[in-house]
Amino acid sequence: MTVTLRPYQQALIEGGREAYRQGANSVLFCLPTGGGKTVTASTIVHGAAQRRNTVWWLCHRRELVAQASRTFYDLGIPHGTVQAGHVSDPRALVQVGSIQTVANRLDQLPEPGLIIFDEAHHIGAGSWDALFHRFPRARKLGLTATPWRLDGQGLGRWFNVMVEGPTVAELIEAGALSPYRYFAPSKPDLSAVGITGGDYQRGALSQAMARPQIVGDAIEHYRNLCPGKRAVAFAAGVENSMQIAAQFNAAGIPAEHVDGSMSAEMRDAAVERFKAGQTLILSNADLFGEGFDVPAIEAAILLRPTKSLSLHLQQCGRALRPIEGKTAIILDHAGNIDHHGLPDDVRQWDLADREKRRKGEVAEVTTRQCKNCFYVYRPAPKCPGCGHVPEVVAREIEVVEGTLAEVRKSEIRSITRETSPREISTLEGLRTLARLRGYKRGWASHVWKERLAKGRAA
Ligand SMILES: [Zn+2]
Repeated sequence: MTVTLRPYQQALIEGGREAYRQGANSVLFCLPTGGGKTVTASTIVHGAAQRRNTVWWLCHRRELVAQASRTFYDLGIPHGTVQAGHVSDPRALVQVGSIQTVANRLDQLPEPGLIIFDEAHHIGAGSWDALFHRFPRARKLGLTATPWRLDGQGLGRWFNVMVEGPTVAELIEAGALSPYRYFAPSKPDLSAVGITGGDYQRGALSQAMARPQIVGDAIEHYRNLCPGKRAVAFAAGVENSMQIAAQFNAAGIPAEHVDGSMSAEMRDAAVERFKAGQTLILSNADLFGEGFDVPAIEAAILLRPTKSLSLHLQQCGRALRPIEGKTAIILDHAGNIDHHGLPDDVRQWDLADREKRRKGEVAEVTTRQCKNCFYVYRPAPKCPGCGHVPEVVAREIEVVEGTLAEVRKSEIRSITRETSPREISTLEGLRTLARLRGYKRGWASHVWKERLAKGRAA
């Protein structure tokens, strides 16, 4: 089977080639979830193998190994897989494996000329980093939708050049991802949950999310907003995921739990029932978050709060796979919108550390939420979900936020703790100052509103 790449996918490949030609040794492709990065990079694998180059394709979970292997079969790329216990074909030029298994079988494999790191935002993890540096002469290619790490380290330590594909908004516009409606009906109380390694502690998080009322809310809003749609629920843990499935079933909505410890047959059977619509809710803890693709998802139910933008975008991205006529529904019961914004907010990525640059800085306007139907939307005169018109006070703020689109980035970057508020001409700038000085929430918009009021009086 030959594959016809979309123009932006072709452009990524060209960009990568150019970077290598100019002397880069490691290149990072940045493409949103659903943009087809596996297929795009497969074309590179194919070309390299045809030139008798040895290629390693490294993932961090076995589901992703199986998925890459399937793609290679479909594209007619001969390859071996490296699995716990054995190497299927050590002489194949292309090898697909998880980082761990490959790291354990280095002696059985020919030295790589090209190493591809799937989900490359994990590159700083010990085993990844070790493998990266073990073959200094090999070219490296990283693939990711979110090129930054929870600990703030930029990926510039590993990759010389980043080649960016289209944004989520552009992919939606082009029909490569489906449009969506985002609702944030409730927020969990996470005051008792600590942070480890930059994200919520799993055990405490599962406990916080295990209250029946939380899932009860999700069921109620599923019924109201997307009844009968096939939805994937993202849970805080395996046990939590089982509870979610059980509670939906008890409410008469057919649901199943799936996890990575199940056999491939069991999982595939569950996915088949989901595709057929016999099962409406497929609940999981980690399985579908990253990479593992299930077509036919019409809605996502977020029940796993996370500080990881990568995870948030991947979970939302699962629902955006396009089907004719589909508008995806995202029900956020995890409060993730507050940390990470909407899936198609424009983010400015770069390879620098985050002390220098705010993480995935959102360059667009902030969102507002409808009090009536919980729809989360960009400032507009009325709610696109139900037509509700927010009261007058809120509309004034809306106008204020509209000006954010024209924020001058250079001004914001020059702001320090010492900058006087009077030197700052935008609301976003005032917010930056407030953050730097540790001022209370609301200070910036208060100053801004006062200014607007004065401006009108003058
Ligand atoms: Zn509304």
